[in-house]
Amino acid sequence: MSQDLDITMKSQESPKNYKYMKAALKEARKAELENEVPVGAVVVYQDKIIARAYNKREQMQSFHAHAEFLAMMKAAKKIGSWRLEDCDVYVTMEPCQMCAGAMIQSRIKNLYYGTKDPKAGAVGSVLNLLETPFNHHIHVVSGLMAEESQDLLKSFFKKLREK
Ligand code: ZN
Repeated sequence: MSQDLDITMKSQESPKNYKYMKAALKEARKAELENEVPVGAVVVYQDKIIARAYNKREQMQSFHAHAEFLAMMKAAKKIGSWRLEDCDVYVTMEPCQMCAGAMIQSRIKNLYYGTKDPKAGAVGSVLNLLETPFNHHIHVVSGLMAEESQDLLKSFFKKLREK
């Protein structure tokens, strides 16, 4: 990690950021209880959580049912617009290319994510879709409460292997 990024991260980790990431983690725990890969997300608009969701890929049998995708769908419905330009997304794991793409399409302002997804992450791991020159730029803060997010995932997959 570059030093610049490190400084950005620290200045971004305000108590508010923790509060919203904690809410996303709470969603991730709901996913775990339903035997879904524990990833959770919230969408924040004008300092309020307007949408919460967790990964439901198995129960919906839908490839788009990732936590942040579902949360953004809910947020758009609530706002009554596909434009989420004043919204921030908090998600416990690095978004995939589909979700990162949806963030560009919906004009999300800031993205905060927890742990990296080395195999499928599209915001810095496999590639960085949000650093390509699209028509919309999203400010990204990674590593927010990453340890908590990763612990959840680790224990989920450990239990899965033991079954
Ligand atoms: Zn995704």
